[in-house]
Amino acid sequence: MRDGATSDVRTETEYDVVVVGGGPAGCSTAVFTARYGLDTVVFDRGRSSIQRCAHLENYLGFPAGIDVETLYGLMHDHVREAGGELVSDLVDAVSRSDRGFVVETEEGRRVTTRRVVAATRYDGEYLRPLGDEEMFETSGGGTNERFDRTYPESDGTTPFEGLYVASPSEETDRQAIVAAGRGARVGLAVVRDVRRTRGVPDAVAPHYDWLRREATLDSEWDDRDRWREWYDAKRPDGVDDDRWEAVRERDIDRRRGMYLSSARIDRRRERGQRRLLDHVDDDLVVQRAREIESGGGDENASGGVESGVPANGTSEHADGHTGASR
Ligand SMILES: Cc1cc2nc3c(=O)[nH]c(=O)nc-3n(C[C@H](O)[C@H](O)[C@H](O)COP(=O)(O)OP(=O)(O)OC[C@H]3O[C@@H](n4cnc5c(N)ncnc54)[C@H](O)[C@@H]3O)c2cc1C
Repeated sequence: MRDGATSDVRTETEYDVVVVGGGPAGCSTAVFTARYGLDTVVFDRGRSSIQRCAHLENYLGFPAGIDVETLYGLMHDHVREAGGELVSDLVDAVSRSDRGFVVETEEGRRVTTRRVVAATRYDGEYLRPLGDEEMFETSGGGTNERFDRTYPESDGTTPFEGLYVASPSEETDRQAIVAAGRGARVGLAVVRDVRRTRGVPDAVAPHYDWLRREATLDSEWDDRDRWREWYDAKRPDGVDDDRWEAVRERDIDRRRGMYLSSARIDRRRERGQRRLLDHVDDDLVVQRAREIESGGGDENASGGVESGVPANGTSEHADGHTGASR
C-alpha cells in the first residue's frame, strides 16, 4: 500500500528516495530520480517560499509569467508523470535505521528509505533526530538556530551517507529556477550514487537523462557489440564475470532505449502540448480556439492589459520606446 495512510493508521512503506518538500527544488529532484526508475515519494506541506510569490515572471519558458498555482500544478503533474508519488503531509522527523532512514510525518505515516533529499527552503528541523549539530548554525546574535546552508556540497551530498540537501542552499535557493536547477543536480547525484551501489563503474556512473534522435544513431553505435566493447574498456578490476555482464547489459538496454524514432518524437510532441492545455483555464482554451477559428488569432496574444510590463515599472512598447507602465 502506498498512498492509503490516514491520520489514525501508521503505515510502513519502503522507498528508494524520499524527498521532503514539493517546491521547485524537490519536484525537480523527484523528476530525475523517478524517471530513472527509483521508487520516489515527495512529501509536501508547510512553510513555502514559492507560495509567497505574487506571480513568477522570470521562470524560463513562461514569457508572460506564470501564476504560482499553475506552476505548482505543472510541477506536481510532472513528478507523477515521471512515476513519483506526491503526498500532502508534513515531515516531522528523519532518523537513522539499519536500512537507511525512517521518515515520520504529522499524519502518522512512517516510511523507510535508503536516501532522503531535503528540499525545504525554510525548514530543517525535521533533520534534528539525525543528531548532527554541524547541520545547524546560530544566527541573530546567537539566539536563533537555523540550517547551515554550507553543510551540503554543491551536488547536495552531505557528510551523512544517503542524506542530500537540495534546499536550503547557499546560493541557489533565492530564485525559483535556480532552485529547480539545483534540485535537478541533486537528483543526478542520487542516481549516480545508486548506480555506484549497483556495481556500475565510477567512470560511467553519472547518468544523463538525454533522449536522442534515432536518426543520429550511426551504424557503429547501432551495433550492440560496439557498446559492449565500450563498457568493457571501463570494467573495474576484480568484478566477477556474471555480475559485470548483468550490469553492462542492463546499462546498454537503458542507453539504447533513449533513442526515439521520428514517429515517437511526433507522438510525444502532441502529447506534451495537449498536456500543457490541461493546465490552462478551460475558458481561456475555448476563447482562444474561437479566436483561431474566426481567423482573428494573434499567435502571441497575451490577452491582458498588463502584457510587456516588467517589474521595474517600465514597459517596452512595440514601437521601441520605453514608457511608464499604466
Ligand atoms: C515574497 C517572495 C517572492 C518571491 N518571488 C520570486 C520571483 O518572482 N521569482 C523567483 O524566481 N523567485 C521568487 N522567490 C523565491 C522563490 O520562492 C524560491 O527561490 C523558491 O521557491 C525556492 O524553492 P524551494 O523548492 O527551495 O523551496 P520552497 O518553494 O519553499 O518549497 C519547499 C516546499 O517544501 C514544503 N515543506 C516545507 N517543510 C516541509 C516539511 N517539513 N515536510 C514536507 N514538506 C515541507 C513547503 O510546503 C514547500 O512546498 C520569492 C520568494 C518570496 C518569499
